[in-house]
This record gives sequence, structure tokens and C-alpha cells, in this order.
Amino acid sequence: MSPLIDRYNRVIRYLRISITDRCNLRCIYCMPKDGVPLLDRRDILSYEEIERITRTFIHLGITSVRITGGEPLLRRDIIYLISKLSNIQGISDLSITTNGTLLSRYAESLKSAGLNRVNISLDSLYPKRFFEITQGGNLKDVLDGIDSVLNADLTPVKINMVVMKGINDNEVIKMVRHFMGRPINLRFIECMPINRKTFLPARYFIPMEEVEKMIRREFHLEHEQALVKGAGPADYYRIKGDLLRVGFISPISQHFCSNCNKVRLTADGRLRLCLLEERKEFYIGEALHKGISDRILTMMIKKVIRSKPFMHRFNPDNMASCRYEFKSLMSSIGG
Ligand code: SAM
Ligand code: SF4
Repeated sequence: MSPLIDRYNRVIRYLRISITDRCNLRCIYCMPKDGVPLLDRRDILSYEEIERITRTFIHLGITSVRITGGEPLLRRDIIYLISKLSNIQGISDLSITTNGTLLSRYAESLKSAGLNRVNISLDSLYPKRFFEITQGGNLKDVLDGIDSVLNADLTPVKINMVVMKGINDNEVIKMVRHFMGRPINLRFIECMPINRKTFLPARYFIPMEEVEKMIRREFHLEHEQALVKGAGPADYYRIKGDLLRVGFISPISQHFCSNCNKVRLTADGRLRLCLLEERKEFYIGEALHKGISDRILTMMIKKVIRSKPFMHRFNPDNMASCRYEFKSLMSSIGG
């Protein structure tokens, strides 16, 4: 089977699957405090449907699959799903993105089920600030979760920090120091204006260039991108003489669209070709319910991939003009 290629010759290798739009946190840039209207449970893809779609994508050359949400560890029988997916021939990298709050409960069984790696979101090391950013989270749960995945050897662990000026940017160096000495890739991420309900005003935006400068003032960084499995668009640097790597993800100030090798599947089965473009979705969930055959599904996916947009339309020079009228929230797309 020929690989999935869009009309700009980008080969699609990476599928990110959201398995729930529910979450036990309410991060200020992602979900409004009072929650969001949730998908009808009947519309959420079943594990059998997720497995079928994943097999189809693997057949089309996808090699990396990441499970996300909402909070994926909230979904019942998550270990069953991971063991099903890890048994599909052709997946070389199966990972999960989680807020980490439930990880200590699941780390060992995720490893036994065949998971390769874990990404954990963590925006502050101060309990009170963590509570405020997540609108209710308990920092200790996440720190325990990080220890448990390191103990279960689900490494390298990726930790993602969304950096916001005046909110947590004074913790960048603290984060580096905290995680030094461990096999962790610590990634700093620009906050994206996704939706009116969660949009942080432009004054909170900080470009990754500034974050990188802060770190370079304190540490010697050695470039290492080629060695990082599943690195995707991030540039990685090793803190000289240490196990810790740092990465800078700048979807706004220096987007990486020309190298994008990714597509996303929402919890109700909409194939999303770009994180920041919701007009060109293919509603696979509905097609499955109507009884689409594997052959037609494969054909449809190949056809739809051709219309993956070349780049998103954020304007980095003018944050105030950024689109923030998407219907979706990040919690439903999966990040
Ligand atoms: N609940 C899980 C978690 O928090 O890791 C998985 C889903 S969450 C939507 C996936 C990632 O998207 C998280 O790392 C989160 O920090 C990131 N994210 C959510 N909203 C964002 C935004 N507006 N800008 C940048 N990153 C965002
Ligand atoms: Fe939940 Fe993750 Fe969104 Fe935070 S970023 S509200 S943990 S889905």
C-alpha cells in the first residue's frame, strides 16, 4: 500500500487519537472553569472502532500513534485499548498524553500493555499556582505520576509546559533544575489562542525565542534533535553533561507546518487535518455507523489527506488578530 502523502508531498506518519473529551482539570488555556458541553456518549468512538481506524492508518504507513483527550486515563478500560493497539503490527511508537493526575495508578499496567512512552503536561511546580492554572489540580498527584512512569521505565518521559508571560514564565529555570538528572525531555510550548472561552489575552504570550534565551543564560545546550524518537517538529537540546533534554515548540512564532506529518482523530471520530483548521474534517465516525467498507474507508482517507492545509493561519506578528473563533476546544481536539 502506498503511503499517505498530501499535495505538498508531506508523508503522514503520525496519528493522534482523542479518546474522550472529558477531563478532571480545567486548564485556563484549554477548558472554561464551568466545563463545556460534552459529546453525546453514543457518538464517542468505541474501542473496536478506534482499533479498526488505527489498523487502516497503519496499513497506510502511519507508524506513530498517540492517545490523548480530554484526559485519556479517565476512560474506562484504557489498558484494554492500549494492549489492543500495541498488538497491531507496524506501530513503532505508541504513546499517551496525560495530565498525569492518575498516572501512579496506571503506569505499571500501561507498560505491561505495551505502551512505549508518556507525555505529561505540567505548567507549575508551586502547588498553589498549579491549582490556579488547572483550576483545581493537585500538584503532588502529577509529581507522583512522573515518578511512577520513570520507575516503570516508560522513558524518555516528555513533560510539556505551556509558558505564559506573567503567569509561569518565572518558573522556566526552576523546571529545568527540578528535572535535571532524569531521562526526561522537557518541552516548552507557546500558548495558542484556540477558542474565545479559553483565549488568554496577547499580553500573556511569550515567544519560545525568549524562553530559549533564558535557559541559555544559565545552561550550556547541545543540539540533539536527530536522536529523539517521535521528536516531530521540536528542536531538542541536551543540558551539557546531563540526562535532561529541553525542547521549544513554537506553533505561533515559528510554525513548523511545512514539516507537519500529523493528523488527528477527535473522540467522535472526525479526522482533523490541521490542529487549527476545522473546516476540512472527514467524519469517519459517521461513515463507520453507516457501514463503510474497509476498502472505501481507505480510499476516502487517501482522498481527504490531499486537502491537508499547507499551514495554519495564525498571524504571529499580531496576536490580537489571531483566529480564536474555533467551535472546538483543545480538550476535544486532543492537543
Ligand atoms: N489532558 C491531557 C493533557 O493535558 O496532557 C491531554 C489533552 S491536552 C488537550 C494535550 C496538550 O495540549 C497538553 O499538553 C496541553 O498543555 C496542550 N494545550 C491545551 N490547550 C493549549 C493551548 N491553548 N495552547 C497550547 N497548548 C495547549
Ligand atoms: Fe484537561 Fe489536558 Fe485540557 Fe488541561 S490541557 S484541561 S488536563 S484536557
